[in-house]
Amino acid sequence: MVYSKEYKQKITFEYPCYICGSVLSKARQTINHIENTHGYRLNGRLVGRRRPEDPNYVYINEPKTRSDFEAYHCSCPSCWYHCPCDEDALTSLANHVNKTHKPQNVDPAKNENGTIKHPQVSYVVRSKILPPGDDDQETDELESEDEDEEKTKKKSPKTKAKAQPKSKKKDTNQLGINDLYQRIADLTEMFKTLMNSNSNMNSNKQQD
Ligand SMILES: [Zn+2]
Ligand SMILES: [Zn+2]
Repeated sequence: MVYSKEYKQKITFEYPCYICGSVLSKARQTINHIENTHGYRLNGRLVGRRRPEDPNYVYINEPKTRSDFEAYHCSCPSCWYHCPCDEDALTSLANHVNKTHKPQNVDPAKNENGTIKHPQVSYVVRSKILPPGDDDQETDELESEDEDEEKTKKKSPKTKAKAQPKSKKKDTNQLGINDLYQRIADLTEMFKTLMNSNSNMNSNKQQD
């Protein structure tokens, strides 16, 4: 056996339904989905077996971010077959499943008497999107805030609201405002007195 130091691509597996493209998290779930939704029964993999090693790939299980691996591969839920998750993936997967596993049509009402057995969509439908790599994510967020003026405008009240609860600043502000209120109250009182005396004087004059 020849061992090569050649590059291995990091891939992660996803389990799409080869008919509607929905991505389910495990092979067993996809098998259940295909029977419940599309009326085809497939056999599961043998229990207790691990996916055999592959000289071309490193398998990444349960990646946390999109930068943990290089490519998605669509896996057959019934065996170890897999293919790159591109626009041909569902067709390849459907051809493989129909030819190799010959799904048993257990509910023909769900697949128009076996006429629906090929992909109805062109690409897989992922229900959860992995976040991009850690570094990328932070830079992206900062950039988008600076670049997009409208977003910045919409976001600015939020930023102000966040900045306010610094307790010390708030206290000094409140003191200042209270001072101001007191002065305004004093001034208003002064004006009222002035106005009253003026109008009294005026009315007195008019009455005279
Ligand atoms: Zn489906
Ligand atoms: Zn298979």
